[in-house]
Amino acid sequence: MGVPKRKVSKMRLRTRKAANRWHAPSLGKCSQCAAPVYSHTACPSCGTYRGRSVLDVQLA
Ligand SMILES: [Zn+2]
Repeated sequence: MGVPKRKVSKMRLRTRKAANRWHAPSLGKCSQCAAPVYSHTACPSCGTYRGRSVLDVQLA
C-alpha cells in the first residue's frame, strides 16, 4: 500500500481543495442590450454573442 512520505500542510491541502470548490458562474453584461448574461454564453434576451446574432429570439 502507498504510504505518504510527508504530511501535507493545511495550506497545501486547502489550496488543492479550493481548485475544485464550487463557485457561482460569473455574470457579465450584454454588449448589445446590457442585460445580465453568463460569460461564454449567448445573450438570452437579444440572442447575440460577441456582437454577432447567433440565436433566433422572439421579440414580444
Ligand atoms: Zn443582449
